[in-house]
Amino acid sequence: MRDSGKRANTTAHSPLTTDLLRRLAPRQVLTSLAERRNYRYDAIQFGETPLAVVLPESTADVVVAVKAARAAGVPIVGRGAASGLSGGAAPLRESLVISFTRMTGLRLDPVRREAHAQAGVVTLAVSDAARPHGLIYPPDPASFRTSTIGGNLAENAGGPMCFKYGVSGDYVKGLEVVDAHGEVHTLTRDAYDLAGLLIGSEGTLGLMTEAALRLLPPPRFTRTLMAHFPEVGACAEAVSQAIAAGAVPSKLEFMDRACTNAVEDYLVLGLPRGAEAVLLVDTDGDDLETVEEERALVEQACVAAGGTVRRAGTDAEAAALWQARRSVSPALGRIRPQRMNEDIAVPRSALPEVVREIRVLGDASPFPVVQFGHIGDGNLHPNILFDPRQDDAEAVHHLAHQIALVALRHGGVLSGEHGIGSMKRDFMTDALDPVTLDVLRDVKRTLDPADLLNPGKVLP
Ligand SMILES: Cc1cc2nc3c(=O)[nH]c(=O)nc-3n(C[C@H](O)[C@H](O)[C@H](O)COP(=O)(O)OP(=O)(O)OC[C@H]3O[C@@H](n4cnc5c(N)ncnc54)[C@H](O)[C@@H]3O)c2cc1C
Repeated sequence: MRDSGKRANTTAHSPLTTDLLRRLAPRQVLTSLAERRNYRYDAIQFGETPLAVVLPESTADVVVAVKAARAAGVPIVGRGAASGLSGGAAPLRESLVISFTRMTGLRLDPVRREAHAQAGVVTLAVSDAARPHGLIYPPDPASFRTSTIGGNLAENAGGPMCFKYGVSGDYVKGLEVVDAHGEVHTLTRDAYDLAGLLIGSEGTLGLMTEAALRLLPPPRFTRTLMAHFPEVGACAEAVSQAIAAGAVPSKLEFMDRACTNAVEDYLVLGLPRGAEAVLLVDTDGDDLETVEEERALVEQACVAAGGTVRRAGTDAEAAALWQARRSVSPALGRIRPQRMNEDIAVPRSALPEVVREIRVLGDASPFPVVQFGHIGDGNLHPNILFDPRQDDAEAVHHLAHQIALVALRHGGVLSGEHGIGSMKRDFMTDALDPVTLDVLRDVKRTLDPADLLNPGKVLP
């Protein structure tokens, strides 16, 4: 539904906005409908237009906003770059959205190998700031050019490097959090690891305002290869064998035939169109001999499994190979305007069967389904491509549910890195037993008794 120009300029007057405008600068409070409507979605889902949007510039501003929303009994939705893929930042009710994009303070402590980042710092900015000090920040979600540290930690984001280097939460030394009462806490990773509890809680237990992040020295050498296989099972087998033989690749990415062809249609990179599975692998480290040995182990495993290997001889060739993986999103956007990006994780040994079962589901549905993912972790992204103007949203949701059930049947989980949000909330009853769900509800009730923080997300 479109707004008329008149409605688009409507300003929301409520006790909440009056209170916010009294306590914060006018530039920090968005009240017009035209502005508010820009804060009702994430990368996958539209929600309710918020009652008001606050753009805090400090932790003190966040405290003011939370206390005002609490006094008015209005739900609060934290928001970073809205690149989330599970509906997390899309409000389900009329809410106060707290958008962290102006909290971009970033301080480096190279001696301690730490970055102190406010919630709205873009992921790439941490890596860029660390590089001149000879340091890296490994968490690398494919959205790293736009996603924020707050959003990364709220989702515990992963990326191609997570098999060797771990996910976003593994780099947190401490967190500053504003709770549902508007109180500020400095959380460490000590007993009870409350920082760990907040990581991956999707804005439902507290708002993260600042994080102390661990940095690493970069590996001195990196080697890249691509392998393609006549069968998905062979690809998964090669990965398992390489890891069993002692290789710890820094990146391990898989694309199925439909995904490879979508990318090739888009960019013409010379990818093997006939292959059922394409594998992209980096090995890295400080000792060149070991890096080369690990690459050889991967190559041997690929060849033994019936794969064909192509090495990148130069950095430019390596970058060209990785361009294929980085181009998946725009390539899929050319097939259908929207996609439901599933994010299951299953034991590596189950991957061949899981990929096959999902393909059967996709073939039987009216929607194109493509698969890719961080295969080292068994993290698979089956994407259902659809056109919201003509396709039945219920049918898309039903297929997503069927895919989630495949993962659960094979001992997997609903989310590898994108979170549960609202998209997979109702599948939680399939994934967890009632007693465990009650424990999660108890945790939520303890930290947020009035259910003000991102209500309707995660918990069914
Ligand atoms: C093209 C593309 C590629 C992607 N690739 C990856 C990938 O490789 N790996 C991966 O893990 N994800 C990936 N994602 C998903 C997404 O980018 C990540 O989930 C990211 O961490 C979200 O960050 P954000 O700043 O956009 O958060 P948002 O989408 O704004 O918010 C996400 C969740 O965090 C909450 N939140 C935001 N800020 C705070 C805060 N300060 N305190 C508390 N809660 C907060 C929100 O309420 C919401 O529930 C991809 C997305 C796209 C569009």
